Amino acid sequence: MSKASVLFRTRKKNLYRMNDEAFFLAMKENCLFHYKHNAQYKKLLDNLGFNPSELSSYEDLDKIPPIPTLYLKHHNMLSFPKHHYLIKATSSGTTGKNVSKVGLTLSDIYRGWKMIDSVFTHHRLWSIKFHRYIIFGYQPHRGNNRAIAKTAHGFTFITPALSKDYAIRWTKNGYQVDLDNLEKKLIKFSKGKTPVRTLGFPAYTYFLLQQMKEKGIKIKLPKGSIISTGGGWKSFYKEKVDKKDFYGLVEEVLGVDEQHVVEFFGAAEHPILYTDCRYHHFHVPTYARVIIRDIETLKPVKPGEVGLINLLSPMSKGTPLLSIMTDDLGVLHAEKCPCGAQSMYLEILGRSGVEDIKTCAAGAEQLLKGQSI
Ligand SMILES: [Zn+2]
Repeated sequence: MSKASVLFRTRKKNLYRMNDEAFFLAMKENCLFHYKHNAQYKKLLDNLGFNPSELSSYEDLDKIPPIPTLYLKHHNMLSFPKHHYLIKATSSGTTGKNVSKVGLTLSDIYRGWKMIDSVFTHHRLWSIKFHRYIIFGYQPHRGNNRAIAKTAHGFTFITPALSKDYAIRWTKNGYQVDLDNLEKKLIKFSKGKTPVRTLGFPAYTYFLLQQMKEKGIKIKLPKGSIISTGGGWKSFYKEKVDKKDFYGLVEEVLGVDEQHVVEFFGAAEHPILYTDCRYHHFHVPTYARVIIRDIETLKPVKPGEVGLINLLSPMSKGTPLLSIMTDDLGVLHAEKCPCGAQSMYLEILGRSGVEDIKTCAAGAEQLLKGQSI
């Protein structure tokens, strides 16, 4: 079995315990694999004077040249011929051009599945009870390859689903936002007994709740309901919504307390599922590492210091995603968290100022203005 598959089979109770040796071996294996099979990746590493065989210990991992997300948007970085890929996903973006193309092979999906199983078990999200799903995101459509649409669709299979409703519906004129429909559904569901689960862009969830609050609507969703947000979390910075205010709004309008608000974070370029703990911290799971780098020198900084977020994971054989440089600023926290998770947690502070990259948030804003995308 490959070193990466061993890592992704980490026992569920060890999800937030870091095994540096296992992680290093899986990363080295993954780096050597892509170096051998991906001419573009090899060229890139050769140009930078880096050879994966130089990796000798965990401490060397920061030497693997990080690939900027922007680079993935402009280069085809797939390591296999096209027919090897079971899933092709793209990052958020409003046009076909400015997105990263990420392909997932069978082994990638197996690892992804082991990870999702562990994460959902740890955070007690599996259930055999029927639920109603409200997705603040895209209705599935065969033309939609956005990773976020696929993730949201997958989310509706965590429990048996009695119904599924979407904020962005597919119509003959393309995708259209219909928040009023979700408002009606939430009111209707609050009168029943089936718990409701929501998932989606925080911006949409926030807009709808704000709209309901302004109308004086206050409901109580059935016991066991969970409000979760993810994917378009970056829009929080645009809307300047403080998380505490958001939890307050959820409690006031939907009658769901803060303990039942869960936030996810992941990206097409770093398909690792981060879930916040009950203190709303994004602990780094055993399948990933985060390096925060100085904005000027790109040298790793100490925990507690702000810098660019560099995400590491040996998950993908399909695409060399082992070290991804985002254009987001963040901080790693080494303080002990009362939730008991041992790993450090990542605080995402937002964009470092690359204005020309259209994100989920930009797309969401366009849709809210009534433009189809
Ligand atoms: Zn915690």
